[in-house]
Amino acid sequence: MGEFDLIRRFFAPLSQRRGHPDLLLAIGDDCAIERVPHDRDLVFSIDTQIEGVHFPHHYAPRRIAGRALAAATSDLAAMGATPVCFTLALTLPQAESTWLSEFAKGLAETANRFELALAGGDTTRGPLSITIQVHGTVARDRALRRSGARPGDIVAVSGTLGDAGAALDYLDVPSPGPLEDALLARYHYPAPRLELGQALAGVASSAIDISDGLTSDLGHILEASGVGASIDLDRIPLSGALKQLKGANAVQLALHAGDDYELCVTIPRQRWQDLPGSVRDQLTAIGCIEEGAGLRLSDGNGREDGASQGYDHFGKDL
Ligand SMILES: [Mg+2]
Repeated sequence: MGEFDLIRRFFAPLSQRRGHPDLLLAIGDDCAIERVPHDRDLVFSIDTQIEGVHFPHHYAPRRIAGRALAAATSDLAAMGATPVCFTLALTLPQAESTWLSEFAKGLAETANRFELALAGGDTTRGPLSITIQVHGTVARDRALRRSGARPGDIVAVSGTLGDAGAALDYLDVPSPGPLEDALLARYHYPAPRLELGQALAGVASSAIDISDGLTSDLGHILEASGVGASIDLDRIPLSGALKQLKGANAVQLALHAGDDYELCVTIPRQRWQDLPGSVRDQLTAIGCIEEGAGLRLSDGNGREDGASQGYDHFGKDL
């Protein structure tokens, strides 16, 4: 199968299925054309997933596509953006129809979920890797950044943390139990917080998505904002499944494991109090921003150092 056949068969349908009004031209020309409305800013981000590093060897192609697109889209959520379109660079050892068909299915399902159209891409031969660039827009000057946290702001996170990290131990288990299944679902099907991010655009003082672990990602906010923070470990939200999982150090996973794709945000106190209930219900306040640099973690029994890092892109293989 040649490159053009492959694109026509598996990927062109994704650019037609759901057109976004801002995407004027998609697959089939030298470039795609996107129109950015005059009152909005374009935000874009690129993300690469490599077999054996970001997902296991022989991982289901449908899940590879879904996870890669969800991980990339999570960066749009962190900026408070509304998705528009994405481009895909796919490197494959061989063009195998069944694999491609499953991959395209996963990509289509996820693209439809986030209302993203495929704008274009490139395919090459080599070790399996998927690079996705996502485009979104946000009302002018309202994008959430990492640099706006100020002393006194509430630090909050969405959902629950640590499940996807706990799931890593069960990826190869032939018939996992219900607890493990619940954790695996968090790993296989990340759910970027697009609507929450959009609701917080212009409200939160800073935001980041938790891809590498809470301490690591919150650390980026602290560094970019030139502030520190105190976190109460007892307040970190954990799922029922993770709490019940025997032998797991739930809090450590929540702090240091990646792949959760929840949001970590900082919000000035008054705005926190004014948040609509439907938005605040998606968040848990876990601490506050302080003047002194660094991350201070404490629980009911005293203090713990916040020096440990999250996922290190050059230090771990699956
Ligand atoms: Mg990110």
